[in-house]
Amino acid sequence: MQSSFKTGKVILAGAGPGDPELLTMKAARFLQNADVVLVDRLVSNEILTNYISPKAEIIHVGKQCRRGISTPQKTINELMVENALLAKLVVRLKGGDVSIFSNILDELEALVANDIPYEIVPGVTAALGAAAFAGIPLTARGYATSVRFLTYYKSDIVTDEYWKELANTEDTLVFYMSSETLLNVVEKLTTHHIHEDKLLGIIQQATTPFQNVQIVNLYDFKRQVSEVNFISPTLVIIGRVVSLHENFKWLENSTSKEYYFKPMDQIIPNLQPENITNVS
Ligand code: SAH
Repeated sequence: MQSSFKTGKVILAGAGPGDPELLTMKAARFLQNADVVLVDRLVSNEILTNYISPKAEIIHVGKQCRRGISTPQKTINELMVENALLAKLVVRLKGGDVSIFSNILDELEALVANDIPYEIVPGVTAALGAAAFAGIPLTARGYATSVRFLTYYKSDIVTDEYWKELANTEDTLVFYMSSETLLNVVEKLTTHHIHEDKLLGIIQQATTPFQNVQIVNLYDFKRQVSEVNFISPTLVIIGRVVSLHENFKWLENSTSKEYYFKPMDQIIPNLQPENITNVS
């Protein structure tokens, strides 16, 4: 099952945050020609069913820390390299954009070390998808002058000095992979006296039919947010711009508790945590 490409090649492509129509035309073209697609968990099923060549082998190589499941990075690198050396067109399809909070560096290093040709195709990152679908312009004039993409999945990655800076900046703050530590984020920012007119936007399953946006005051978080088990994936936006949601929201909130992206152990039954390999 070989493509028209004489030598193998790897395409590192972003799939966008959920809505399949946010896939770029370039990524769609490569998927149509792919021999092998290595796919993350946060890629919609619709993309897998409608945009990938029916002849392609689809290999799920997702990670889901909350469930203790993670395809070893070494396995992903090997699958990319081995298939490219067989002269196949390999698409490594990641949720959102390829360069934001992903392991693209490891993958690039593996490709370069093995002299494999590659291309990088950007995707709509979750922050931009969520901002658009929630009607929150991230750097709206008069509300913010910059935006920061952050993460706080481990307590030691942000120093106290930096929390102080974050609480006092005029920048919009976007937190990826931080829904489980959200209470802690709120405590840090309020301890450092974040201004009361900066609000917190919690956007679950952005750009999907199950998108849910919740806007709260950071100082009232504990009272307003009783349920802190947010559905994965969840993105957090903090800043003055969040208040614009009220005026410019255009999509109705879903109250469904359904998962748009299936948990890893539902994608691949009988999955052994920390030990998944070829599972197509
Ligand atoms: N490369 C991806 C980010 C990977 S990290 C990108 O550019 O978007 C995974 C985190 O992204 C999730 O924990 C969540 O915080 C965020 N995320 C991805 N898709 C999302 C979605 N549809 N809705 C809300 N958050 C999302």
